[in-house]
Amino acid sequence: MSAMLSVENLGAWYGAARILYDIAFEVGRGEVVALMGRNGAGKTTTMKTIMGLIPERQGTVRFNGDDISRLRPFEIARRGLGFTPEDRRIFADLTVLENLDIGRQPPRSFPDGTPAPAWTPDRLFSLFPNLGEMPNRPGGRMSGGEQQMLTVARTLMGNPLLVLLDEPSEGVAPLIVEQMANTIIELKKEGLSILLSEQNIHFAKLVSDRVYVLEKGQIHWQGSMAELEANQDVQKAYLTV
Ligand code: ATP
Repeated sequence: MSAMLSVENLGAWYGAARILYDIAFEVGRGEVVALMGRNGAGKTTTMKTIMGLIPERQGTVRFNGDDISRLRPFEIARRGLGFTPEDRRIFADLTVLENLDIGRQPPRSFPDGTPAPAWTPDRLFSLFPNLGEMPNRPGGRMSGGEQQMLTVARTLMGNPLLVLLDEPSEGVAPLIVEQMANTIIELKKEGLSILLSEQNIHFAKLVSDRVYVLEKGQIHWQGSMAELEANQDVQKAYLTV
């Protein structure tokens, strides 16, 4: 499988504090890859660094073969890399439909010319029926789980080729967690690639093909999801189980 996203020697700093060290990984086309580790391991920082949101960074990020390491965040987004932030960033005074409109970008194709999935509010409402029941509700009057769905839906309005999903299961009710897992499986069927950040193996194992385990800003283990499930030592050392 050729890598759609590849990261080499990634480093990041917040001021004088170094957070990431020599991070390297790949996400292939159509793959769901989990970046796993406990709170503070560096998952969010890795995603923000890929998106160009951390000014003090080093290393190479390639997307569809192009070096995007020095591009600005909006330039990276326009190439078809979608980012669903952990803190959601929903506009509280705007309705569901208006929040979706903010994410709208033109249709896109994969490098081989195959069209990427193209999303409309109607298609997203069939993927997230809860949102379809509240198109005119202001973002600020939705539950955490509904806001989480809206955040993913808004990212999809940009017709991305690959989505960085930062802890989609965090702080949402079990029913929504299950729906979120089904959504990821649907997106994979549509041909999208996903890099998922997650600390909980119970969610990650439902959807992920491969895993990279982070601790203190470094990758300590990598393998298939089946290998991680069988490896109690790695789970105990680095994950919430
Ligand atoms: P979480 O599940 O809590 O989001 P994470 O694995 O995503 O964890 P990061 O949020 O990337 O971890 O944090 C990695 C390290 O960077 C932590 O030690 C954190 O305290 C630190 N950090 C995060 N954001 C900042 C910031 N804006 N300024 C300084 N340090 C930060």
